[in-house]
Parts: sequence; structure tokens; C-alpha cells
Amino acid sequence: MADRDDAFRAPKGTNDILPPASWWWEQARRSAEDLFATAGFAPVETPMFEHTEVFERGVGQGTEVVTKQMYTFKDLGGRSLTLRPEGTAPVVRAALESNLHRGALPVKLYYASWMFRQERPQKGRYRQFFQVGIETIGSDLPVADAEVVWLGAHFIRSMGVEPTVHLNSIGHPDDSCRGGYMTALVAYLEAHQNELAAEDRDRVTTNPLRTFDSKEPKTIEVMGNAPLITDHLCDDCRVHFDAVKGALTAVGVSFEMAPRLVRGLDYYTRTAFEYTAGGLGAQNAIGGGGRYDGLAEALGGPSVPGIGFALGIDRIRIAAGEPEVAHPNVDVYVVALGDEASQRSFELVTRLRAAGVGADLDLMGRGMKGQMKDADRSGARWAVILGEDEIAQGTATIRDLSTGEQRTVAYDEVEVELTT
Ligand code: AMP
Repeated sequence: MADRDDAFRAPKGTNDILPPASWWWEQARRSAEDLFATAGFAPVETPMFEHTEVFERGVGQGTEVVTKQMYTFKDLGGRSLTLRPEGTAPVVRAALESNLHRGALPVKLYYASWMFRQERPQKGRYRQFFQVGIETIGSDLPVADAEVVWLGAHFIRSMGVEPTVHLNSIGHPDDSCRGGYMTALVAYLEAHQNELAAEDRDRVTTNPLRTFDSKEPKTIEVMGNAPLITDHLCDDCRVHFDAVKGALTAVGVSFEMAPRLVRGLDYYTRTAFEYTAGGLGAQNAIGGGGRYDGLAEALGGPSVPGIGFALGIDRIRIAAGEPEVAHPNVDVYVVALGDEASQRSFELVTRLRAAGVGADLDLMGRGMKGQMKDADRSGARWAVILGEDEIAQGTATIRDLSTGEQRTVAYDEVEVELTT
């Protein structure tokens, strides 16, 4: 039960998005969708909750998201469901379920969705947060990786934030590549187990790659001398990585090599990347992604390669300095005086709207002065005034709110006057 005083407040770690900030959110979402669509990605919507197994298998049981942060509940039928903590596993699940991978490839999809994780809230870390993401399913070419990395950087920049791109390759899980590296890493971690922070010691056996993700100073120090995956890549993965780097350099994306950046699960492969930005304190990651060539199989499908990213819009907004954006105004505010005029004003507003003119009217029963103030506040360019004289004469007065100029027109022709 929520505390009595808290019951009617937004739950901890959630945010209401109200005007004027909501205009920025609307615009951010639209510009992401427009950018992704013009790059050949199509919109996808998946349910806000999935069977818990989708995330257990698709994010991985060794991850913090799955072990500590999921909103999991039983429905009335006793089925375990989870509010989605991330978008990739649901999108790949949906693509496989509808056999998109058997059709024309690649399948390029984007989403803009709320995600849910029960994290300890702080600035830039919430329990409900918004991500935009893309997934390219079916291509294993390096140019697909470069396209995804470029699009993320381009979008972040278009939001007024200069991202730093951190890039790594984590190879593939076979012994010829990451498998051999894991043997070296585990040997190193076992030799230094006592120097690791206590909370990280279990990772040596459960998910050794994730040790690189630790925020504990003691562990970070140990990892500073750990063997690096990039020194152990097989020839194929090295060639792929070189091609990704070459393609990014060719289009002017600068990046920093990040040999300790990992996605610590078997089905993450090759390219791993993250975008960071200043002004966020500890939560400086604004997006991340990577290649997941083993994910489709982990979700019970055939082997289908894929790559994608997710960008955190809450954090991009903070990094951008929480800007306000211009919002669309109504074009016309109808000011009406007297009963008959008030009735006419609603009729006029509907006529204007039907003609494609943005229009608003008084819903508070205010007098002339109050309505003129509301007209100014609405940002409208014109006030259309209906007073007793106008009603008697079948006219309306159009007032240009920036110059104060007025003219009288036939009531039936207001929309014609305003659209020509
Ligand atoms: P991840 O799926 O953890 O790689 O997250 C991708 C991006 O989503 C991160 O870089 C953040 O920008 C954002 N993000 C992840 N978790 C949260 C959270 N709890 N609150 C706000 N943004 C988040």
C-alpha cells in the first residue's frame, strides 16, 4: 500500500510530462521517428508487457536488469508477465513470431516506447523512462553496424547534444574467438578474486564479462589490468570490426575505442557501442547498442543476425539543458460577447477547424477584456470578435493581434478571409 500522503502522487521514480516540457517530448519523439523512417526503418509496436521468459532469455539471467530490476507480476491466470525493461528482445520476439525473418531482409524497425525498471531513482535514472530505438534484423554486414551507430549519433546531435561514441567489438562466443579470451579473463579474475569488491566476486563464475561494468572502485582498479577482448578477436571478427571503424571514419563519425565496453551475454556479438554526454553526472550514458547475432536463437528461432540501439530520451533532455521549444499556436481566437455571439462562436470555431484553421474559444464565460487576454496568451495571430453589432449585421471583426489592425468581414466569409 502506498503511504497515505503519497497515494495521490506519481509513483517513485516516475515523471509526469506536462506543458510546456511536453512540447519538447512530442518534438523529440517525432524527429526520431522521422529520421528513422527516412533511413528505411518502419514503426513497430509491441505489448507493454511480455511473458517473463522473453526477458529472462532475451536479456539474460545473469544481468542486473533481469535479477534486480524487472516489474514482474502474475496475471489472474497465474502467468508470469513483466513490464518491458528494454525493447530489443520484444521486437525480435515479434519479428520471429510473425516470420518477418523469412520475408524480405533486412527487417528494419524503430520504436519509441516507455520502459520500466525498478532502479534506485536519481537524476537521469527513473523507473519509467522513454527510449527510441532501431533494430536491423537479417544483415551481418559491417555497413549495417555503421548505419546504426551513425543514426544514433546523428539523432543525438540533432537534439543539441554532442555525443561521445565509445566503440568496441566483443567477438563471437566460439573458442576461436571470445571463448579463448574468456579462459584468459576467468584465469585473471580468479587470480585477483580477493581484490575485487565483495559484490562483484560472484560474477567471476556467473557472468565474468560483466565485471567490466562494475561501478565499484576496487573492481575498476583490478579490471584496469585485465586482458582485453580486442587482443583476442578471431580474424573474421577483426576484419568486421575494421570495416565498421572504416565506414564510420569515412562518414566523419569520430569514436573512442572502448576495449572494456561489454554486453556480457553469449548472444551479443561483435560491435558494442555506447553514447555518452556531459552534464549528467554519473548517469552519463545516453544510449547504447550492439550486435546480437545469437539473440534470435536464444528466443527459440533460427540463427538471424541483428544490430540495434536504444537511446534514453530522459537523459538526452537533461544533457540538452532541458530546453523549451516553440509550440504550435492556434491561428485564431474567437472572442464573443453576449449569448447569441457565444453560441455563434462555437459554430465559427468548428467551421474554421474544418477549413484547417487552428481555432480556440472562451470556455470560461469571461468578459471582453478577459477574452482578449486569453487571445493573446493563446499565441493566436488573429482574434475574431463577435459582439452585438456584428451579430445584428451578420459580420465579424478580424483583429491582427500583433498590429492591432481591424477589419470587418461578412460572418459567412471569415474562413475565406483567413485562408486567402
Ligand atoms: P540500456 O538498455 O541499459 O543500454 O539503456 C539504453 C539507454 O537508456 C541508456 O543509455 C540510458 O540513456 C537509458 N536508460 C536506461 N535505464 C534508464 C533509467 N532507469 N532511467 C532513464 N534512462 C535510462
